[in-house]
Amino acid sequence: IISEIVTKENLESYVIGGFVRDIFLNRGSKDIDVVVIGSGIDLAQKVAAKAGNPKVSIFKNFGTAMLKFKDLEIEFVGARKESYNRDSRKPIVENGSLEDDQKRRDFTINALALSLHKDNFGELLDPFGGIDDLNSKIIKTPMDPMITFSDDPLRMMRAIRFATQLNFKISDVTFNAIKENKERIHIISKERIIEELNKIVMSAKPSIGFKLLEECGLLKIIFPEFQRLKGRETRNGISHKDNFYHTLEVLDQLVPYSDNLWLRWSALLHDIAKPNTKKFVKGIGWTFHAHNFVGEKMVPRIFKNMKLPLNEKMKFVQKMVLLHMRPIVLAQEEVTDSAVRRLLFDAGDDIDELMKLCEADITSKNEEKVKRFLD
Ligand code: ATP
Repeated sequence: IISEIVTKENLESYVIGGFVRDIFLNRGSKDIDVVVIGSGIDLAQKVAAKAGNPKVSIFKNFGTAMLKFKDLEIEFVGARKESYNRDSRKPIVENGSLEDDQKRRDFTINALALSLHKDNFGELLDPFGGIDDLNSKIIKTPMDPMITFSDDPLRMMRAIRFATQLNFKISDVTFNAIKENKERIHIISKERIIEELNKIVMSAKPSIGFKLLEECGLLKIIFPEFQRLKGRETRNGISHKDNFYHTLEVLDQLVPYSDNLWLRWSALLHDIAKPNTKKFVKGIGWTFHAHNFVGEKMVPRIFKNMKLPLNEKMKFVQKMVLLHMRPIVLAQEEVTDSAVRRLLFDAGDDIDELMKLCEADITSKNEEKVKRFLD
C-alpha cells in the first residue's frame, strides 16, 4: 500500500533504520520506520485511508505519525536534518534529504534505507557502509562519533546495548569517543538510561554490556554501587574473589533459566553489599558478614537513584537479595535437575508465584533461620 501511494504521488520514500538492519540480520521486527521526503503525517493519513482506516496517532511537535496495521507498528516521518544545542539532546530540526536523515542516525547499521518507490523498489541506500559493518559485526557512527555522542549522549548507551544484543564489537574510534564523552550522560534522563540498561540486562549475554560500561567509565556514573564490586584485595597472601566478574557470571548463567527482568536484577544485586561489609579477620581471611542483610537495605536506594519502580517488584528483589539469590546460586552450583530449576521455569513471569515457590523450597529444606527473615 505504501509503495503504491508513494509511486502514485511520486514521492521519495524509504523504509529505514532498525527494520532494515533486522532484515539483513534475519531477526524479526514489528516496528517499521518509513521516511519520506515531504510530510510524514500526510503520508500516514493517505496510507490509513487505503488500509481500512486504522487509527493514526499524530505527534505534531515531532512531525511524525504512527499507525498499527495487523501486528505491525508503522511510524512515518519526513526526512530531516538535525542540529543540537550543547545542553540538550533535543535537536533543532529542519527538512532535509534522505542523506541528511541517514546522517542523523546513531550507527551505520541503523542508517540503511530501502526504497519504496516502484521505479527503484527495494534499492538499498547505504552511504555509510552499514552492510559492511553488519558483516563485520561492528558498531560505529556514520559521522564523527565525538559529535554524535556529544549531540545525544543516550547514543553511548545505545551503542553498548546494540553491541550486547547483537554481540557486535564497538569500533575503537567509536569506543574512545564514548570514553571521552561519558560525563555528558548527565544530560540524559534516568528513565532513558534505565530503559537501555534493562535491555542489556534482558539480553542473551548481559556481561558483554556491563564489561563495556565498566571499561568506558559509564558504569561508575550510572551505577556506582556495581562498579564498587570490581577488584580483588590481597592480604597476608589471601585474596577474595572479584565480585564484579562473579556477579556477571551468575547473571549470564541465569539467562537460560529465566527471562524475568526482576529475577535478573536480583542476580545483579545479590552481592551488592560485599564492598560495604568486607573485613579481613586474622586467622579466617576475608569475610562479608551479613552482606545479604545490608544488601536488602541498599535495594530501595539503588532503585530510587536509578528510577526503577518502587513497588512490589522492588520488594521481590529485596527478598531475593536477602535470601542471597538462593535459587540462582543453587541453579548454578549443584542443582542440575531439580526443584530449583523447575521453580524458575514454573514461575515464569509471575513474581508472586515465584516467591511462593521460593518460600516453599526453603521450607522444604527446613531452613528455619532464613524463613524467619521472610516473615
Ligand atoms: P530496537 O527496536 O531493537 O530498539 P531500533 O533500531 O528499531 O532497535 P529504535 O529506538 O526503535 O531502535 O529506533 C529506530 C531507528 O531510529 C534506529 O534504527 C535509528 O536509525 C534511529 N534512532 C533511534 N534513536 C536514535 C538516536 N538516539 N540517535 C540517532 N538515531 C536514532
